[in-house]
Amino acid sequence: MIDIIKRNKEVKKILSREFGFNNVSVKNDRGTAYGWCKVNIYNIEKPKDCYCDKKELNPYGYHCRNCLNKLNKITDTAYKLLRDIKFYTYYDDMNYEHKEIIVQAHFLE
Ligand SMILES: [Zn+2]
Repeated sequence: MIDIIKRNKEVKKILSREFGFNNVSVKNDRGTAYGWCKVNIYNIEKPKDCYCDKKELNPYGYHCRNCLNKLNKITDTAYKLLRDIKFYTYYDDMNYEHKEIIVQAHFLE
């Protein structure tokens, strides 16, 4: 068994150091997904070379490529910082083991 409350506090502490206490939210799923750790990181600044609003370059996307790269970099950093934390795991159809944590990054509105 994992002490989820203690675990989440540790996750919050580690990510707060990198992203700031008020920008990090750590929650636990309820019900059947209980144990899943859901992390949100807020107030990320958009990259200077963002072209989200240029329709001819970004016809389909909600975020442009440069914004997506930035968000991916943030979530990658978070996963790396949390690599020693213990999470529950599950196996996918290919029998790969995955940790039950999801990190999402959000731009400053
Ligand atoms: Zn953009």
